[in-house]
Amino acid sequence: MQQSAQSITIALSKGRILKETLPLFAAAGIEPLEDVYTSRKLIFETTQPNVHFIVIRAVDVPTYVEYGVADLGVSGKDVLMEHGAEEMYELLDLNIARCKLMTAKIKDQVLPQGRLKVATKYINVAKKYFAAQGRQVELIKLYGGMELAPIMHLADAIVDIVDTGNTLTANGLEQDEFIADISSRLIASRLALKMKDEKIQPIVEMLSAAVEKKAKSA
Ligand code: AMP
Repeated sequence: MQQSAQSITIALSKGRILKETLPLFAAAGIEPLEDVYTSRKLIFETTQPNVHFIVIRAVDVPTYVEYGVADLGVSGKDVLMEHGAEEMYELLDLNIARCKLMTAKIKDQVLPQGRLKVATKYINVAKKYFAAQGRQVELIKLYGGMELAPIMHLADAIVDIVDTGNTLTANGLEQDEFIADISSRLIASRLALKMKDEKIQPIVEMLSAAVEKKAKSA
């Protein structure tokens, strides 16, 4: 697909965020022409001739937006915090996929004094959080299933996102320290804001109205 000055490409995160993102775009008049859940395609035309969706892994969304390949993107705040947000702007809190970034540990266990071992996929976030508290930690990078790390004595604690807390409880863990409130954000590349502002603003306004309407009806 050729990026053109006329078209807008919007990078959407696959998975649980997508289910909450599509209704917001639909309310803003932008719907994919094919079923994004069953299609194997990665690029989708939409009901607006010059607007395309690309549907990719959540961690890749900031990269596409940062490089200006996607003009807009929908990304969890956790992913943005971990990625760092140069060359892009957060335009809107979409108020979806809300959860918390927390530390967690084995239930009722007292953490050891001294250098903690912390397993997480959020290495940058964890590094910043513990450094700000002047705490020494050894960070262990994992890509999923963080709850297993304390159980198997790979780590004393984890940093992960928590929604209901059911996954922690099911694995004998408990929430410990709060790091940040998380929700999905609409982001834009610096380049797109400079070159395509008149095309982006109406989309932002319609999404913003859809977010407000949803909040009122909740
Ligand atoms: P829960 O058992 O409801 O606390 O959710 C547990 C798991 O679901 C977490 O470890 C995450 O991997 C995932 N999860 C929860 N909320 C979100 C979210 N908003 N976005 C992406 N993943 C999430």
